[in-house]
Amino acid sequence: MNILLLGAPGSGKGSQAKLLETKFGLKHISTGDILRESVKNETSLGKLAKEYMNKGELVPDELILDLIEERISKVDCLGGVIFDGFPRTIKQAEGLDNLLVKNNKRLNHVLSIDVPFDKIITRLTARMVCSGCGKDYNKISNPPKSDKCDVCNGDVIVRADDNEATIKNRLDVYKKSTEPLIDYYNNKNILKRIDGDKDVNLVFNDVEKLLQ
Ligand code: AMP
Repeated sequence: MNILLLGAPGSGKGSQAKLLETKFGLKHISTGDILRESVKNETSLGKLAKEYMNKGELVPDELILDLIEERISKVDCLGGVIFDGFPRTIKQAEGLDNLLVKNNKRLNHVLSIDVPFDKIITRLTARMVCSGCGKDYNKISNPPKSDKCDVCNGDVIVRADDNEATIKNRLDVYKKSTEPLIDYYNNKNILKRIDGDKDVNLVFNDVEKLLQ
């Protein structure tokens, strides 16, 4: 089963993808996570991507499509994948269609997780994440017990792009470049919409119902 999660930054795609990965044994592919890892390791991709990411701009489509082509050809993707944060443009969606045909795969579900923008801004300005295991925290509603991760004792950090100016730009970019994908997948009769403005476990219940 291959699932694609659409939604604005901070809509909870990553949290739902992690739950889906655990429950259904699918591989979670987050282009944002892959890019952050590349930036951290100072690879050639990371060096190219860093500037775009810090400004909240999209990394060029060609780089992203090359990255996805390489990623989905790995054996750990044979049992199915969850795309999180990809595609983000119509060009990426068309590129994914071609890659899926080439690899004899298809999308089984496209879920759009919908959260009002004012709630997203509140979420992202309070977001923290463990740099070790990726566990999400919230400064107000769900802080770590210390400055280390409760699960793996890694450093809990604020992402470089979770500041107010960059968040605003990321949401503008989402509206302009990524939101048109809702119509793109709706026209293919594969899109389902989910109210993401509630507790993560309640959202997951709705996700599971839609997958049945
Ligand atoms: P995310 O973790 O999904 O919020 O992504 C963080 C940043 O990585 C984005 O603001 C973009 O700069 C970049 N990025 C992640 N995925 C993509 C993508 N599919 N296309 C272009 N840029 C991306």
